[in-house]
Order: sequence, then C-alpha cells, then structure tokens
Amino acid sequence: LQIKAVTTVANLLIRFSLPLSAPALLVGCVEPAEHTSVIVFDVCEPTIIELPADATDAERRGVAGAIALWNEVSGPQLALSDVPGAAPVAAQTLSTETGAFVVPRDDQDRQKLHIGFREAAPLFFGLYRVDVGDILINRTIGDQRAREIVVAHEIGHAFGLPHIEGQSSLMNPGNTRVPPALHEIDRIQQHRGPCSTSSTTPAP
Ligand SMILES: [Zn+2]
Repeated sequence: LQIKAVTTVANLLIRFSLPLSAPALLVGCVEPAEHTSVIVFDVCEPTIIELPADATDAERRGVAGAIALWNEVSGPQLALSDVPGAAPVAAQTLSTETGAFVVPRDDQDRQKLHIGFREAAPLFFGLYRVDVGDILINRTIGDQRAREIVVAHEIGHAFGLPHIEGQSSLMNPGNTRVPPALHEIDRIQQHRGPCSTSSTTPAP
C-alpha cells in the first residue's frame, strides 16, 4: 500500500494508491473504477454523512439505518447532518435541541461524505465515485432494508473496501441483505492499521 498524499478536510481524507482487483460489474453496484489515486474515508475518524435537500423521508431513514448498522461494528463514528426528523444515531456528536440534526461547530472540519439519490435503471443500485468521494444511490429502490444495505455497501467502498465474493459479505456485488460485520473492519484495518494509529500519519 503506497500512500500518495495526505490531503484536505483536516487531513482526514486519505489518498491511497489502492488496487481494485475485481472486474467492474454492471448489475448491482458498480465497482469503483481504477484510478491512480482514490479518496478513502477513514473509518476510525468521525464522519459526517451529508444528505441533499431533495432526499425523501424514506431515503433519510435508509441512510440513518445504514449509519446505525456501521456504528454497530465500528463504534459511533458516523453521524448525520441536516436530517430533520430522523432518529438519533450518534447522539454524542449531534444536537437535537431543534428536532433537527446539526453539525456542531467543532465538527465543521470533520470528513464529510455526501450521499445523493438519482433515478436509475432497476439493476443499478449505487455507486461510490472514488475520484469525487461521494455516493449516488438509485432512488427507485423500494424496499427499506435493501436501501439501508445498499447505502451501507457504498459506505464500505468509501472506507476503501473492494467487492468480495466466495463468502457472505456486505461487499458482495449486488448485496441487498447482508449488513456490515466485524470482518469488514478487519479488512479495512489491514490497510489502514489499527484505529489507535493517528489518521494523519498512516502506516505505509
Ligand atoms: Zn459495490
């Protein structure tokens, strides 16, 4: 693993030269394309998930559900921003005084992952754009559990996970039912190192 550069947003987004081994699949999730450098979010640092104003209530609940699934295995590292009416998922980083999620002032420089929704063909579920560092989800997905899992899967790509086959995993291409598990954290930490390692000086 070669560190290309440490970059941007309080040095919390890390650029890796990361080989993505599996071929691109057109069904389910599109495997992130191979780039000379890709944006990887640090699973060990707090991440603010940003939603656009046009996200529906069902989409907001889907993202909140995906965040809760990841927090179950990673610790409370993920938080929503600007999501009125959603259930708290990481209360220690959120203000609920107004009934809306707000990014606290001291969180303004934290890494932020934007999740947008677009209408797309039914066989397309979602995409993590490795060069931009954001997620697109097909808003025609109608099943709430499937929406949560697809969002969680794309967050896995944002954490640097490629597709995996041959065992049941969140990162199976086309997965709509398997949630994040501890072995996803293990695979991330094989690249990143343990979470106690400073994110600004990742081990090579
Ligand atoms: Zn995928």
